[in-house]
Amino acid sequence: MPGLYVHVPFCERKCAYCDFYSLALPESAAAAADLAERYLDALERELYGLPAEFVPDTVYVGGGTPTVLRAEALARLADLVHRRFRLPAGREWSCEANPGTLTAEKVARLRAGGVNRVSLGVQSLDDRQLAWLGRRHTARQAADSFQTLRAAGFDNLSVDLIYALPGITRGELARDLEGLLAWQPEHVSVYALSVEPGTPLAARRARGDLVEMAGEEQAEQYHLIRRRLLAAGYEQYEISNFARPGRACRHNLNCWDGGDYFGCGPAAHSHWLGCRSANVSDLESYAASPAAGRLPRAFTECLEAEAKARETLILNLRRTAGVEAAAFRRQTGFGLETRGGAALARALALVLLERHGDRLRLSAAGLFVSDAIFAELV
Ligand code: SF4
Repeated sequence: MPGLYVHVPFCERKCAYCDFYSLALPESAAAAADLAERYLDALERELYGLPAEFVPDTVYVGGGTPTVLRAEALARLADLVHRRFRLPAGREWSCEANPGTLTAEKVARLRAGGVNRVSLGVQSLDDRQLAWLGRRHTARQAADSFQTLRAAGFDNLSVDLIYALPGITRGELARDLEGLLAWQPEHVSVYALSVEPGTPLAARRARGDLVEMAGEEQAEQYHLIRRRLLAAGYEQYEISNFARPGRACRHNLNCWDGGDYFGCGPAAHSHWLGCRSANVSDLESYAASPAAGRLPRAFTECLEAEAKARETLILNLRRTAGVEAAAFRRQTGFGLETRGGAALARALALVLLERHGDRLRLSAAGLFVSDAIFAELV
């Protein structure tokens, strides 16, 4: 069942660690509204340029910070999706939100527009760490945003948490985690801090102002979070994602299943009928491209069957359910062992992968080092 992703390329300002494509909205309200309208005009053209047979089963609005848009713009975005696809009520419709950008009016517009799941970018409950990360909000604002969403009737809320922040002890991390659990979110996503090229954090590291946490301590923090969330009744369904039973994000599961989806908006990626494509990472080009009758693509790539099977294997292994040999053969035409067989054998011998009957999956030890395992499989 295919998904629709919509990339909203605006933020209040860039966070120190972020390399996603997004722009700070102009400070002038009129200029910001004008830019948002141009983006929405282009998005409308792109949505109507998608294949007629594409009907999304799930919708995910991400960014960027979708909720930096004014309430009217958020309502227009939802209306565009409804008019184009005439989605039945109840389809999973997620929207990312950042604390400090949510007002009661925006929350009401999201709900009225069909959004039924919100992912809140909390990241930390330590105000010093939030400031160091370049986040624009405080822990108090994050708690208030969460409660505003709950009060508006959202019963499917996710929170993001970053671990491996320099200087943060396991005790401090555990305290933050308890603070988040007290809110009783339905879903938690956890990510290690990653220093990406070209970001302010990379510049701090180059100056010697940032020493990254050692890998062993990062692993300890990951497993601390994992143990606590499992003990609290969450199910881990992907390397970085935990959910109450029945609350896994179906949109993202489809991506890891190797399913089809269209991504709209600048820098958005798509996977359709076995080919991957990405839109241009530039709002001006994006806004101009559909107007000129062209799709706003930066590239399209259709892999050979064997490379495609390898990609599917890696995506499938991100799920804690792993990959079942018969299903993999039906989907790709290949057996598991023919895809990077030597690398699989090594990972099995090191108990980073484990076999359960016909199913192959990451072991608890393999979850944290999955990137290294996947690098060998490519
Ligand atoms: S709010 Fe999110 S998308 Fe925007 S700069 Fe920060 S991390 Fe990046």
